[in-house]
Amino acid sequence: MANKQDDAGACKGDQCFSDETFLVHDQRYDKGAVSPPIYQSSLFSFASYEHMLARFRGDTDEALYSRVDNPTVAVFEQKMAQLERGDEAIAFGSGMAAISNAILSVVQAGDQILCIDHVYPDAYRFLRGFCKRFSIEVKFVDGSDIAAISEMLKTTKLFYLESPNSWMMEQQDLAAIAKLAKAHNVTTIVDNSWATPLYQKPLELGIDIVVHSASKYLSGHSDTVAGVVVAKQFYIDQIRQNISPFLGGKLSANEAWLLTRGLRTLPLRMERHHNSGLQIANALKEHSLVSQVHHPAFSQESAPSLSGFGSLFSFSLSEQVDIAKFCDGLTIFRLGVSWGGYESLVIPAQAVVDQAGEFNSAKDFGVSARVVRLFIGLENPDELWRDIAQALENATE
Ligand SMILES: *Cc1c(COP(=O)(O)O)cnc(C)c1O
Repeated sequence: MANKQDDAGACKGDQCFSDETFLVHDQRYDKGAVSPPIYQSSLFSFASYEHMLARFRGDTDEALYSRVDNPTVAVFEQKMAQLERGDEAIAFGSGMAAISNAILSVVQAGDQILCIDHVYPDAYRFLRGFCKRFSIEVKFVDGSDIAAISEMLKTTKLFYLESPNSWMMEQQDLAAIAKLAKAHNVTTIVDNSWATPLYQKPLELGIDIVVHSASKYLSGHSDTVAGVVVAKQFYIDQIRQNISPFLGGKLSANEAWLLTRGLRTLPLRMERHHNSGLQIANALKEHSLVSQVHHPAFSQESAPSLSGFGSLFSFSLSEQVDIAKFCDGLTIFRLGVSWGGYESLVIPAQAVVDQAGEFNSAKDFGVSARVVRLFIGLENPDELWRDIAQALENATE
């Protein structure tokens, strides 16, 4: 793990553990329950007027109202804060709510945002379209071009990163960028959904704010849409005081409970995804109908901050292959958006880029129409490879 030597681990009180043990070794809840209660309550009442005033003054951390705080959601938030080695976390009803809250807590009209190429498509549309409405200028840059970044940071308020990004799996040197950004007084946000906090800890590398789509690996079961922001206290306070109460995209207690359950098996699932993903990526690399495999294991720059890989990657198909035929020929892989659950998925870049909508700027998203993205699920990897191999053989013109 990056910076392992000065990493105390995930702590509860003064006891610190490895991430694996921390995620399983839960506290005793009410009546000795090993799983947290679901507080399905919109509001929390006070024992006395004095208690209520103390809460409003911020003297106690008793729950108040579930748009702001809920004890079941807090269990998930505390786990994420420890896993990412941040001070605090705020959980949201989606990854996009986490992303938009984090971004809007940093910038205002007239500011400039710098963003790496090939970010998650809805983050791209949010920056390209939505932010423009509020006179926030957004510029894009190749995340590996340190010279260009260094120049552009001079006029930037916020640098938005996603490493590796979720279509081309391009990495940014987070430690070097965090250092540069600090020198220019620029706030950094990184989307860490691909690696999870198990395989990359951006806050330890100097990044200011981490965002996740918890709908992916953190949930792990394709049954929840959620997001989370983790950061140092200062950034969390900015979101909590100025943004999240008004946008109101808080996570619900039921969804938080599912996420806490998902987290217990995250280390096990990631190990499986890492191995199966590499097995299939290596097999694709040798295939005559595949021109390139986009996986951090094969990138030119080594992976300085990744201690493992997930199983989301893409590859470019040769011109001989009919992409629609290939997708329809797969029998185990499902055609669909998203990833990070138990099931294997396929989606061609063309399908995403061709979407309609005011905020779509597909023309310059910059991902080739020959790119197909795979998510390798928990099925037997040999069977998954046989499925891909037969679909490729049957998809040539
Ligand atoms: C899915 C995804 C998001 C958005 O998360 P939602 O939970 O769908 O809102 C953000 N970033 C990445 C990399 C994603 O894959």
